[in-house]
Amino acid sequence: MTQGNLNITNGIHAQLILKPGKEKSVWRRHPWIFSGAVAKIQGHPGLGDFVGVYSDKQQFLGWAAYNPKSQIRARIWSFQQTESINPGWLRQKIQYAINKRKLLNNATNAMRLIHGEADGLPGVICDQYGSWLVLQFNSAGAQALKAECINQLVECTGIAKVYERTDSDTLHLEGLQVQIGPLTDAAKQAIEQAQMVPIVENQIQYIVDLVAGHKTGFYLDQRDNRALVHNLARGRVLNCFSYTGGFSLAALKGGCVEVISIDSSEPAMLLARDHARKNKLESTQSKWIVSDVFQYLRQAKAAGELFDLIILDPPKFAPNASSLDRACRAYKDVNLIAMQLLKPGGHLLTFSCSGVMTAELFRKVIAGAAADSKVDFHVVNTLRAGLDHPVALWFPEGEYLKGLHLQRV
Ligand code: SAH
Repeated sequence: MTQGNLNITNGIHAQLILKPGKEKSVWRRHPWIFSGAVAKIQGHPGLGDFVGVYSDKQQFLGWAAYNPKSQIRARIWSFQQTESINPGWLRQKIQYAINKRKLLNNATNAMRLIHGEADGLPGVICDQYGSWLVLQFNSAGAQALKAECINQLVECTGIAKVYERTDSDTLHLEGLQVQIGPLTDAAKQAIEQAQMVPIVENQIQYIVDLVAGHKTGFYLDQRDNRALVHNLARGRVLNCFSYTGGFSLAALKGGCVEVISIDSSEPAMLLARDHARKNKLESTQSKWIVSDVFQYLRQAKAAGELFDLIILDPPKFAPNASSLDRACRAYKDVNLIAMQLLKPGGHLLTFSCSGVMTAELFRKVIAGAAADSKVDFHVVNTLRAGLDHPVALWFPEGEYLKGLHLQRV
């Protein structure tokens, strides 16, 4: 099916037939069909073409975008036989997702408007940064519907500046290419003048690098946890893996005396310092240190440093299942030392954004670290991404960001 095709699922002839029993996960509304579940393909669908999905008994299960290059052989966009994936259908999905976010009232002009599978649009990501939209098309189906998605998003939001950041590290698993650049005329002109875009969140101004920033430019998913840091901030705060200083700024705004921010990226640290200056949150006691976190923590421990609040938000240590064991050791290592740097009564906010790490396993790893640290902790709360990153009940894979709020007894 080509881009802009007006009636994608009208006149579909290709069929994907599942092996016996493999329809069960589709009945539970899981949208992914793995290659091992496929009995046969009738017709000759290509990359991103829509197919009808059927059980071995010829029951209709859904309309899915086909990807012969991916282990996820098809992603279901609709479970209704009577639905047609056309511009009107897309508009309804997009408008519904945007309306849902209006209820969040997050004191910000930056938020995720479309969160892929959880919003019924597999692989489509749309983040708003003020007067910009930044999009990712992370699946073959999303790329097939790209032109129509852009049209509908521009119409539904009234935002004309649209930039593409399809550069996530899982693209190669889908057999897809990196695509970065302006998607509309308005974006073409504007991006040359300014790729650094200001946003406001809870009265703090951040600058988002649309072209080179992580993800689509900023860790929008940590918004609620930044608000938590604002509320917990006091005394000495250590922000590990600080990137452009999101948690550091929240802590300074919350009134702590001192924040030490650690990140191995010099450009990220420069932007973090810029953020502090712009928000008039510079404190002479704050430090912005370009360093390896593991190394810093060991030095801090040897020097007998202690903190009231520590944030550990590392990069994805486990990009896939085969790296999970090694990742667990790294999570344990970094948490163990951080735990020993907390004052009695001090708080630790610790995160994993590895999709393959379940919340249960993460908790086990953290419990192991606590046991070895010889320090006792209470779980104050479990943490997750903000509500603009919804998790569908039938799609646990969407729950990639998990965290624990611990307090040293
Ligand atoms: N907490 C940040 C996001 C962290 S992303 C926020 O809320 O905005 C992970 C960060 O870890 C990246 O900025 C990356 O540069 C940094 N990083 C990765 N490995 C590191 C290491 N070993 N030591 C220090 N920083 C590291």
